[in-house]
Order: sequence, then structure tokens, then C-alpha cells
Amino acid sequence: MDLRRKQVNKGEEPIIAIDGPSGVGKTTVARLVADRLGLKAVSTGALYRAVALYLIQTGVNPNNPLALRVALQNVELDQKYEDGRIRTFLNGEDVTDHLDTVEVSDMASRVAAIPEVREFLLDVQRRLAEGGAVVEGRDIGTVVLPEAQVKVFLDASTGERARRRYEQLRAEGINISYEEALKDVKERDIRDSSREVAPLQRARDAVYIDTTHMSAEEVANRILKLVREIVP
Ligand code: C5P
Repeated sequence: MDLRRKQVNKGEEPIIAIDGPSGVGKTTVARLVADRLGLKAVSTGALYRAVALYLIQTGVNPNNPLALRVALQNVELDQKYEDGRIRTFLNGEDVTDHLDTVEVSDMASRVAAIPEVREFLLDVQRRLAEGGAVVEGRDIGTVVLPEAQVKVFLDASTGERARRRYEQLRAEGINISYEEALKDVKERDIRDSSREVAPLQRARDAVYIDTTHMSAEEVANRILKLVREIVP
């Protein structure tokens, strides 16, 4: 594997792609890495969640192709990285605090299997990564930003990912049991890996990191080491 393949020119900011399954801690790690490098962090999962929220709010059935097409024409997304927080905007409104419910999670992983939705989000994701960014998702290194200078694939055992998700949601005040978090992680794993378009897959040139026994800080340090190897 040659990480030097995609060179970063002097004065240019790198793109760091962090992919991996649900609950592995991608957003936490992306923020830590972004802060240390002075870059912005982009959460592409939040964009899928914002589309899901819009469909729930408007009562659009995502399996109705015409209704979905019209709905997507009415969706404008943006994301900003401010004070270490990723804020997601749906049609100008900050919806960040509405994206983590079980209902939105479930709908997000369903709409993520629909090619029109993925196509729609491709441009949004690429625009957000312009000028360098730490971008986390499922298909960043493979489909969205294959030219990223650093690519990592984070993994952890299912039980550990469920535990992380459970603790994150509880910290946000969302009432969920560990069993529900486990069920959510397992169901989304199946959907993410079995869909036909851009399934969760490790890029061939991504560095695999098993984070089961690592803290978020340790994972971020590992990635920063990779960045230092390629950024002049
Ligand atoms: O990462 P997060 O759990 O917020 O993502 C929500 C859902 O969006 C995931 O279950 C996954 O199905 C989908 N997703 C995706 N591709 C991405 C990011 C998220 O399919 N790049």
C-alpha cells in the first residue's frame, strides 16, 4: 500500500477519509483529528439523516420514486464545523439536535440504499470537502472522495459498537436500552453491507484499524501519524 501515491502539495490541505460501520466512533475521531489539524470535520451520516428527517416530516414514502424525486428537489443541505461541533442545516434550519433518534437512524439507513439519494448526496459531500477536510462515512474512500490522501477504515466488535452508541445516545439525553442499541447496530450493519449501491466496503488503500480496545484519542493519534507521513 502506498500512502504517498496521492501527494499533498505545499500549502494544500489534505482530505482524510474515515470509513467504518455504525457506532465505531467515526464522528468523535473525525472531530479530534480535525481539531488537531485545523481542518473542518464533515459527517456524511448526518446528511443521510437530514434527508431521512425531511421525508419523515413531510410524510413522503421513499419507495415512491416520483415522490422521492420531488422531495429531493426541495432539500437543501449544508454543514458547518463550529467550535468543535458539526452542525447540519436542512433548508436553512439547524436540525443537528433532531438527527439522532432511533426513528431517523432507521429511516437514514433505508434511504441510504436508494441510488437517487446517494447520487443526490454525492455533490453535497464533495462540496463540503473542498479545501481539505476530515470526512467520515461509509463510502468516502471508495466512492465519494477516492482521491483522499489518507484513508482509514475503523472497525470494532459489534458489542463494543453497540456500547459506544448506547453511551453516546444516553449522553445526548436519548432514552435507549443497550439491547435497542445492539439491535440498531446489527440491523444497520446488514443494510449497509448488503445494499447494491456503494455498500460498506474497505477501500483497498485504506489503513484498517481495529479500535475495539482503543480510546478515541488513541485512534486519532494513529491517524495523525499517518497524516504526518504524507503531508509536507
Ligand atoms: O454514520 P451514521 O450512523 O450517522 O449514518 C446514518 C446512516 O446513513 C447509516 O446507517 C448508513 O446507512 C448511511 N450512510 C451511508 N453512507 C455514508 C454515511 C452514512 O450509507 N457515507
